[in-house]
Amino acid sequence: MTKWVYRFGGGQAEGRAADLALLGGKGANLAEMASLGLPVPPGLTITTDACLGYFSGGKCLPEGLQAEVLEGIAAMEALTGRSFGGSAHPLLLSVRSGARASMPGMMDTVLNLGLNDETVQALGHDAGDARFAWDSYRRFIQMYGDVVMGLDHEVFEDILEDEKARLGHDYDTDLSAVEWQHVVSLYKQVIAEELDEDFPQDPHVQLWRAIAAVFSSWNNARAVTYRTLHRIPHDWGTAVNVQAMVFGNLGSSSATGVAFTRNPSTGEKSLYGEFLINAQGEDVVAGIRTPQSLTEEGRLAAGSERPSLEKLMPATFAEFRAICTALETHYGDMQDVEFTVERGKLWMLQTRAGKRTTRAALKIAVDLVDEGVITEEDAICRIEPPSLDQLLHPTIDPGIARTVIGSGLPASPGAASGEIVFTAEDAVAAEAEGRKVVLIRIETSPEDIHGMHVAEAILTTRGGMTSHAAVVARGMGIPCVVGAGGLRVDMRNEMLIGPGFTLKRGEIVTVDGSSGHLLKGEVPMVQPELSGDFGRLMEWADRARRMTVRTNADTPADARAARSFGAEGIGLCRTEHMFFEGGRIQVMREMILAEDEAGRRAALDRLLPMQRSDFTELFTIMSGLPVTIRLLDPPLHEFLPKSQEEILEVALAMEMEPGQLTRRVEALHEFNPMLGHRGCRLAISYPEIAEMQARAIFEAAAAAASETGAPVELEIMVPLVGLRAELDYVKACIDKVAADVSAETGRPIGYLAGTMIELPRAAIRAHVIAETADFFSFGTNDLTQTTFGISRDDAASFIPTYQRKGIIVHDPFISLDFDGVGELIRIAAERGRKTKASLKLGICGEHGGDPTSIRFCEEVGLDYVSCSPFRVPIARLAAAQAAIEARRRGSGQ
Ligand code: PEP
Ligand code: MG
Repeated sequence: MTKWVYRFGGGQAEGRAADLALLGGKGANLAEMASLGLPVPPGLTITTDACLGYFSGGKCLPEGLQAEVLEGIAAMEALTGRSFGGSAHPLLLSVRSGARASMPGMMDTVLNLGLNDETVQALGHDAGDARFAWDSYRRFIQMYGDVVMGLDHEVFEDILEDEKARLGHDYDTDLSAVEWQHVVSLYKQVIAEELDEDFPQDPHVQLWRAIAAVFSSWNNARAVTYRTLHRIPHDWGTAVNVQAMVFGNLGSSSATGVAFTRNPSTGEKSLYGEFLINAQGEDVVAGIRTPQSLTEEGRLAAGSERPSLEKLMPATFAEFRAICTALETHYGDMQDVEFTVERGKLWMLQTRAGKRTTRAALKIAVDLVDEGVITEEDAICRIEPPSLDQLLHPTIDPGIARTVIGSGLPASPGAASGEIVFTAEDAVAAEAEGRKVVLIRIETSPEDIHGMHVAEAILTTRGGMTSHAAVVARGMGIPCVVGAGGLRVDMRNEMLIGPGFTLKRGEIVTVDGSSGHLLKGEVPMVQPELSGDFGRLMEWADRARRMTVRTNADTPADARAARSFGAEGIGLCRTEHMFFEGGRIQVMREMILAEDEAGRRAALDRLLPMQRSDFTELFTIMSGLPVTIRLLDPPLHEFLPKSQEEILEVALAMEMEPGQLTRRVEALHEFNPMLGHRGCRLAISYPEIAEMQARAIFEAAAAAASETGAPVELEIMVPLVGLRAELDYVKACIDKVAADVSAETGRPIGYLAGTMIELPRAAIRAHVIAETADFFSFGTNDLTQTTFGISRDDAASFIPTYQRKGIIVHDPFISLDFDGVGELIRIAAERGRKTKASLKLGICGEHGGDPTSIRFCEEVGLDYVSCSPFRVPIARLAAAQAAIEARRRGSGQ
């Protein structure tokens, strides 16, 4: 026989905190508190298995459940000296949901269950307070009518409002017993009228229906959405906690409150909380009355005249404080607790790990290690890696009200304000005059790079998380929002148009790249501060992880920022970005537009010293660390002039006929450039480009080595390989240049040559490609694009619809698709290593900075992850957590 019910109370419990999956968070912790001998009202927890049984059995309570619940209620009756449904000393119950993961406010609760026309009299007699009894009854009918019977709670609120108005009472005035009794009759009347059934008087009927309703609330729309957003499995089910009611609304010696065992916003070790005298728990949550500070310290800090609980009920408070300390030590974490004082007697109603800001989380974790409560590894696992973002960028002051005028995808975190500009040129001009700008574009292209560089923030109305704007902004650490589809850029009139507003060039806006919001005007910011706690935790994380963390960096500024964030090398330098700077684009265009190889070589000769000096600087910054340089990847026409104006300008500079130039530009046009003449295909068509790049790399490496005395570990990477023969061809070019440069300098050159794995064919043929490659770097942006056949630049127009319709849960360009793309990575890693055990494996797509994807990389055994500079700390922490989890799994912990 399955056991459906676990009892607790009277210093004993059948469950424990470890039974989280079966009893849910609330139930498991109630059991734990009861077994610790803490004052917990007796009760029982119906398991999550019973919830699953309820659904699989066509929404019927599973067999045997009712008998077990009745036994549990009998035990509660014995412990409380009350009887459920009894006409004297009635036992009232709370029926609450409690899932394995916290889903605050998503599911349902019923309080004061067991009241009816008879027990209400008994309750009034017991409490010596008829007003309290009738108020409790009306609260019960209101909750039950809404949650169980499905009548909108506003129906009840309207009745109450009307009644107060009729009686001439203020909103805040409490009603008398007789007045509440009348409200009860009105409530029952509306139920009978609207639902065609009477409010159930039998407490057992009330109970069974309430349990079923709480089970059902697992699948209400808001709970389903919450689970989807928080990646909580839909098949966990909720437990139901049925517990003896205690009352904080029995006069001035009663109270109810919530507390954190440490300050949740700063992490300070001091009890922090609020309470209300003569109130039920729901009153605190509802926020109708303003609560008072729990402690004297809190009262003074808040500058309040209203007395603290510490002052009002010193003995009860002392007991409460001692319990909080004991709970924190027992759980090894800051707790968020709920309590009630019923006529001077303290009752603990809930404990759980408290939510906190990132700053508080770091302080609490580090302090708990110092206090000997938890280990360094525990501390590492306590911090959500993405939350570190809050510390690395200026963020909008959480205390201010936001005027959001548009939103898109949160592509690059942090927030910044500036005046609107619509072109890269305007951005550069404004910046030169010392003005701060926000660059707003429909989408960005490599030609905008100079404007993006000087912008405080970027917003595009199109594009997804791997669009050009998103990738570049993240790399630069500039706040960025992309795909803000509700906004329209009117380039001609230089206006940004949104629902009900237009903003002109020069008007001030704020972009919040962490939330995806566009705000009007300038708003106050909080500056980042990498405190000692952050540094200490990151040090522990570095010791705990197996994978190294590199960065994707194309510029010296990126490389420096990344090193300061702890990057251990460069995993991807996209060399094309170097060709857009300053006058280089012009030389690049000459190279591309040259009619023959000789013309191309002449332009390449001019590009060589520029690339060499870029690489020398990069290698000097990264001295002693591995640096992966990727050969030119994007289709050539990305570099070409587009508007008629630009064509004229370039034609003039090249002393070419505009018509001839236009024809050449048209000849380079491609229908699907992402699958066109790009990647290693360029090096095969124009080997002189790869030769120039290889020479620049080798000469720069030699120059940097002689300057720093510590050579970089050089890795040259060939993009978009699908065939081994492609890699063989390009590698032969590289090797030949290496031999030439070595002969010229008289020094040997050490380097690895490898490939990106970003095509399904490359993954499947990895064992063959590994015969040539020294390393694989998974380019998961393209690998996701080519595996799904979804254009990474166009995905934003339909992925949100897919998510809304439940076709996919997560955007695969943000979080790795384990089942498809992940399977290809697994295959490639296994096959590649079978051919070459020493094959280095890394990831350099955007997923390299995504904690969930990083966990997958650990599982597959990659050697490193590479991500944009500002995500390096996140990746370091995520990699540490992944390694700790893997070790714990391995040792069965
Ligand atoms: C990738 O495809 O994952 C990658 C890193 O290369 P890019 O984003 O430059 O195409
Ligand atoms: Mg790619």
